[in-house]
Amino acid sequence: MKVQSLDLRPQHEKFQRELEDAILRVVRSTIYINGPDVAEFEKDVADWLGVRHAIGVSSGTDALLAALMALELEPGDEVITTPFTFFATAGCTHRAGLRPKFVDIEEDSFNIDPAKLEDAITPRTRAIIPVHLFGQNADMPAVTDVARRRGITVIEDIAQSMGATFEDHPLGTLSEIQCFSFFPSKNLGGLGDGGLVTTNDSRVAELVRNIRNHGAQVKYFHERVGGNFRLDTIQAAALRVKLKHVGSFIEGRRRVARKYDELFARADLNKFVVTPKEVHGRHTYNQYVIRARERRDELQKFLAQNDVSSAIYYPLGLHEQECFAYLGHKKGDFPVTEKVCREVLALPVYPELDDASTLYVASKVAEFFRS
Ligand SMILES: *Cc1c(COP(=O)(O)O)cnc(C)c1O
Repeated sequence: MKVQSLDLRPQHEKFQRELEDAILRVVRSTIYINGPDVAEFEKDVADWLGVRHAIGVSSGTDALLAALMALELEPGDEVITTPFTFFATAGCTHRAGLRPKFVDIEEDSFNIDPAKLEDAITPRTRAIIPVHLFGQNADMPAVTDVARRRGITVIEDIAQSMGATFEDHPLGTLSEIQCFSFFPSKNLGGLGDGGLVTTNDSRVAELVRNIRNHGAQVKYFHERVGGNFRLDTIQAAALRVKLKHVGSFIEGRRRVARKYDELFARADLNKFVVTPKEVHGRHTYNQYVIRARERRDELQKFLAQNDVSSAIYYPLGLHEQECFAYLGHKKGDFPVTEKVCREVLALPVYPELDDASTLYVASKVAEFFRS
């Protein structure tokens, strides 16, 4: 048996006809930039998420960059985020001329620890970017509580957690700006790169729309410096097809996660393996990430020998990345992040993964620790 981390084929086959029709319609229309599908998708996704404004952009990374640019901060202002995430949050902070400031994570949710926020706030702190990692919410009530008290803007990185809910509220209703990605592996995956900024603030929405178009309301007259952050019409057309099914994709991911949970509980591996916890609201399991208390790299090798692919998200905290050496961090600054970087292993999970595959993966993990 062979189990891939992600196989996009079953999902594609289900919607192949609809996707190809939608794309062909765009190809024949010849309106490849800002075609009607972009506005239609923005309307559909705003309704689905329950927000006033949705602005399609070229990627999740560009969503973060455009959102930060829309805050119109001073060079060197500080943005608090987690050191345990994909590079984009801190990378965009740097690119926007701002200074990333890291706060360690909660061990059980892998997300920013609100108890450690206050200590990181300085007079120059302007924004906090909590990331909802692997499909699970950060502790938003606690994060926004601190932010409101200190007058700091919250931008959520929801790239991995679109469709997660928190006490019946869809994720993204508790902050000023939200950023999403449609990279093919995300909960709503496009056929290439794509992203989204959402907000209830009309002024922010107007700024992001302006920034995604080189800061020009009227062509060739630039109010500010922006970028080319537009969502392609073809991507918008494909995303409109798939948006209707995000709920069922998430159900599929949760089914796989429940299966793994059951299998690991039955295998009684607590001594060796920590399974993901659903800590803050409803997890969407964009990734099913276990922690191997020991021998993680050997486990990964053993799984590979048995045709099970797995991935390490993430092998190194952002504070230890070479490009951020200027921030002056050293090993030991964020101990929880550093610990989980040594232990995490993402097992195969996608909505269509069948029980036989889940069983095979879990049995190979058990076999490794038992032998
Ligand atoms: C994928 C991802 C991004 C960036 O999205 P792209 O569309 O790949 O640019 C940002 N943040 C997190 C947490 C992600 O997982």
